[in-house]
Amino acid sequence: MNNKRKNNNIKQKRKTTTVKRKKRRLRKGRVLLVLLLFIFIIVTIKFISYLIYNHNIYNTITNNKTNIAKINIKKDKLKLSNKNINYINKNLDKIKIKNDDTIITILGKNVKNNMNLDFTIYNKKIKNKNFNNSKSLYIENNSTLKKSINLKIKLPGYLRRNNIVDIYGVDNKEQIKIIKKSVNIKDKYVTFNLSKKYSKYFITYVKVTDIKIDSDIEVLKKEELNFKIKYEPTASTIKEVTYDNLGDNFVMRNDNLVAKKIGKFKITLKVKNSNIKKNVNIIVKENNPKIEKKDGLTYVNGILIVNKTYSLPKDYDPGSLKKETVNAYNKMKEAAKKDNINLFIASGYRSYETQDELYNYYVKIDGKKKADTYSARPGFSEHQTGYAMDLNIVDSSFEGTPEAIWIANNSYKYGFIIRYPKGKESITGYKYEPWHVRYLGKELAKKVYDSNLTLEEYLNIESKYSSSD
Ligand SMILES: [Zn+2]
Repeated sequence: MNNKRKNNNIKQKRKTTTVKRKKRRLRKGRVLLVLLLFIFIIVTIKFISYLIYNHNIYNTITNNKTNIAKINIKKDKLKLSNKNINYINKNLDKIKIKNDDTIITILGKNVKNNMNLDFTIYNKKIKNKNFNNSKSLYIENNSTLKKSINLKIKLPGYLRRNNIVDIYGVDNKEQIKIIKKSVNIKDKYVTFNLSKKYSKYFITYVKVTDIKIDSDIEVLKKEELNFKIKYEPTASTIKEVTYDNLGDNFVMRNDNLVAKKIGKFKITLKVKNSNIKKNVNIIVKENNPKIEKKDGLTYVNGILIVNKTYSLPKDYDPGSLKKETVNAYNKMKEAAKKDNINLFIASGYRSYETQDELYNYYVKIDGKKKADTYSARPGFSEHQTGYAMDLNIVDSSFEGTPEAIWIANNSYKYGFIIRYPKGKESITGYKYEPWHVRYLGKELAKKVYDSNLTLEEYLNIESKYSSSD
């Protein structure tokens, strides 16, 4: 009996331990389940909030509401009026904003503690005919900074797409002014100066919506084609075209087309970064100069020409610079003065005799062959016409000076051309002379300037001595 009881007791004990074990296992399972549920709930909440968050961002962009940051910096205390800012470092070097599309970084080097930095960034469509409703990053500047600061802003995707943006400022008189044109944003960031001067800023890419161009153009063979293109809107960020259907009828020179063959051609202009195309009919005509001789003088298309092919008689002597040359020069000198450029005539009219002495002097020094590259033989000098002159410094050190650059860029506006351009020695017969200008009258000078040709090329004439003596 005792033994039986003992056995029963042992059995009972065993049972209890198994139940206990089972219960423990069950508890463990429940904890794990709760934990999993907890994780699931957190993930779900995170996911939902992510969805809501993104939705909110979307709303902000489309509704033009305040997007992100208002920052006040006062005596070491940083007060942020927007929750979206999630990172600020101690030195105020960087302030990042949560929304990845509009991360702002403030370079704090110029920020002094007692100054108030307060600006708001919006993603906004600009209502301005120049911008044609372009989408821009719009910054309202309410800062009371004494000094301007550099703002580094990571741009939203729609601005990054084209790799280039323009930055505009709006001043107190509500005038829109360009601050930086065609800023390359390859690194997604743009840096610009936030100053008191402008209460608003636009960082924008303005797409070309249309171009206007003559559909028929007539040019002479070898002449550069000048496409006068009007871009719309005028504030377009990229104003550039490429050409199609050129065949071997045209070649490129200095980003311009030059007509190579006589005939009628149709080419296509494509606007860069857009789908806009325009066809242009081009008629290329032979350049047949009309050469006339009158009292020993040579006129090509009505223009008195003196070069190594066409000379002047010994007795041709206007006595001084022609009246129209002097008048045009005086206007040019006055205009140059306004640009802080001082022009003076180093050598104007030269008679046959003067040129004779000069040329023979150079031959004595350098020999005939070398002298012929920079000095005209008597009767072959343009200075004898009264239409040519040397300005300021008559030596190669003049090249690249502000005066030489001004003459090259502006003299055509007053009727002059640089007669012996760089790299055209074999055509003009003379080495580069940045100081030597020839009066042609405003209209023709502009045409020659625009053509990028020498006068010889423009008129299709030669400049070569008929004999070596
Ligand atoms: Zn000269």
